[in-house]
Amino acid sequence: MTDCIFCKIVDGEIPAAKVYEDQNLLAFLDISQVTPGHTLLIPKKHVRNVLEMDAVSASQLFEAVPDLARKIMKATGALGMNIINNNEEVAGQTVFHAHVHLAPRYGADDDLKISFLSHEPDFEKLASLAEKIQQTEV
Ligand code: 5GP
Ligand code: ZN
Repeated sequence: MTDCIFCKIVDGEIPAAKVYEDQNLLAFLDISQVTPGHTLLIPKKHVRNVLEMDAVSASQLFEAVPDLARKIMKATGALGMNIINNNEEVAGQTVFHAHVHLAPRYGADDDLKISFLSHEPDFEKLASLAEKIQQTEV
């Protein structure tokens, strides 16, 4: 895709600090470095996000995550890692070429803040929503 920043990185048109590459995938340091070692793993072939991927290309992308995560952990000395994938604007996606964030964590006071606000469980609603999802064909 000509106006896609990550395609330009894949094509070598703009530089990136690469940490891993194979035939289908590229990983490079995120320019924002929310924490040191913050890395993006992308498929080389342009696809908007995971919602548009087929199972084979998704498998190729996600099967590389554990080794890459361990590599980054070992190299940085991080204590943990958040592995995040944003799909569509409402979910925080700003670059519309599929990517997985690997963000090493160094302590509760590092610069990555994630919060899940929890609600009182309504077990009837949970059951009917689960049933609806189960019955939905894609
Ligand atoms: P999203 O918000 O779409 O999940 O994440 C996109 C990420 O791409 C952001 O964290 C942003 O810092 C990173 N990014 C945007 N442009 C560039 C770039 O030109 N080079 C690199 N290395 N990262 C970029
Ligand atoms: Zn692209």
